[in-house]
Amino acid sequence: MRCPRCGELLDTLVDTGKAHIRWGELRGRGVWRYRDLLPGLNHVVTMGEGSTPLIRLREYPNAYVKFEGANPTGSFKDRGMTVGASLAVSLGVRGVVVASTGNTAASAAAYSARAGLECVVVLPKGNVARGKLAQSVLHGARIVEVPGTFDNALEYVLDTVLSDGAVNDINYYPLNSINPWRLEGQKTIAFEIIEEIGVPDFVFVPVGNGGNIYAIWKGFRELLELGVIDRVPRMIGVQAEGAAPMVRYWRGLGEARIDNPRTVASAIRIGKPVNWFRAYRAVKYSNGLFLEVSDEEIIRAQGMLGREGVGVEPASAASLAGYLRALKEGIVDVNDRVVLIATGHALKDPDILVRDNVQSITISSLEELRRLLKT
Ligand SMILES: *Cc1c(COP(=O)(O)O)cnc(C)c1O
Repeated sequence: MRCPRCGELLDTLVDTGKAHIRWGELRGRGVWRYRDLLPGLNHVVTMGEGSTPLIRLREYPNAYVKFEGANPTGSFKDRGMTVGASLAVSLGVRGVVVASTGNTAASAAAYSARAGLECVVVLPKGNVARGKLAQSVLHGARIVEVPGTFDNALEYVLDTVLSDGAVNDINYYPLNSINPWRLEGQKTIAFEIIEEIGVPDFVFVPVGNGGNIYAIWKGFRELLELGVIDRVPRMIGVQAEGAAPMVRYWRGLGEARIDNPRTVASAIRIGKPVNWFRAYRAVKYSNGLFLEVSDEEIIRAQGMLGREGVGVEPASAASLAGYLRALKEGIVDVNDRVVLIATGHALKDPDILVRDNVQSITISSLEELRRLLKT
């Protein structure tokens, strides 16, 4: 999945001159509604991923939250996994292997189970949110834990399956976001946004490995080439302060790599983003930018969304935190139309929400409840 000449990750190009897609006449729902812009496959492993709600915020009426927690395993990873798992089946491999901060593992485990494939997940020990680990267990993945961070886990996987540039001799298909087919599924986020509200001014995306922001931008670019839209929104990549290698690179402070990434947002606790160059291109060519937010801002944004009825995990709240920061710094105006990608569901990482004592009242009689409801 790397170019033997330059070492960069391989990409997929849709020949938009030849693609047969009539935008007004799409059928079906979810990721496969856009099958004409996806790889042609004779066997599709699907659980109805995609077609997620776009929720307008009460407090900021020009901000729409794309609620990816509504996917089958609770994160946008399912959009890529339906394509990746379908391809794995077509290739006739024994199973799939992924390194993960948790959500890729949960999704790979579920889609492998659905497809009848084996699944091996390589996780950073002690660094995975409980809900996500529980999903890998439930769906029967073989769980391998390695010391360190996600970056170490990914290194293990890449060194095993991508050695010598050949795919591998162990018959396990790698489904990390180095795999361009996964990004093809994820680009449908852009298609759904366009169908529902047209071209927004900005799209805020939490950035970990950088695959998703690139995938979404790629989706917009394809629609631009097809003449469906006449401009691409500005892509804003949001990182957590303690895990912001892209911000570092963007500001000219060095390579897009840091050691010991730290943040409460475990899904974006990544120091060496494998898709850094893709993410950089998405932001640069859309005239966007990268910005960082503190863990406090992330937790506050998660609470704000919670009070609007939208339950997201910390990493996902980074997009709202980034929007609030951009408003404050004058990068964005309240009248601009923005989409905030809420990447994963609140139940993924519940511990942080109940870490401190939960505020509650204990009662022991009906009378007490009656009194309480009256005040
Ligand atoms: C995977 C993930 C991200 C980061 O996406 P990248 O493609 O790695 O940048 C952000 N939030 C959640 C909830 C995720 O699962």
